[in-house]
Amino acid sequence: MNRLLRLLAPRYYVPAVFDLTPSRLRAWGIEALMLDLDNTLVAWGEIEPPDEVLAWLEDLRQSGIPVCLVSNTLSRRLGAAKVVFDLPAAGGRSKPSADKLRRALRILGTSPERTAMVGDQLFTDVLAGNRLGVPTVLTGPLSSYEPLRVRFVRAIERLVLRALARKGVVPVRQ
Ligand SMILES: [Mg+2]
Repeated sequence: MNRLLRLLAPRYYVPAVFDLTPSRLRAWGIEALMLDLDNTLVAWGEIEPPDEVLAWLEDLRQSGIPVCLVSNTLSRRLGAAKVVFDLPAAGGRSKPSADKLRRALRILGTSPERTAMVGDQLFTDVLAGNRLGVPTVLTGPLSSYEPLRVRFVRAIERLVLRALARKGVVPVRQ
């Protein structure tokens, strides 16, 4: 696999974030999560998460799996999300820079090998995680609505996903 493709390849793929059950994470040797916000935890531009996401976060809390938000959204909106989710959020330069992730690791106090970056986009979430060398999880997007600029990125993303699928890395997403 060439270097660029390797940087975009997630280690794991799940259809939705709440498929990352504590037992599955334990089996993968992951004990903390850095989580994207838009279309990973909430529908695009929303602030209220679906019930499944809230139940899943509660499950993680009870299992002692700490979580930190790493989102490129505006700081005011991220502030609101922190309150809704009652979770810490890392500041710093936007993904695909690994800056926010590095800060999130300090907040979580966990080791990079056991802290996964989870998100719905290859060119921000997965790329940032791979640049830092942490395990990466690609999730299916929570909602089908996305702004035009993201839909454009998705078209390119689909090509990369197809190339990765040919190499047996991730299943093709519809
Ligand atoms: Mg996202």
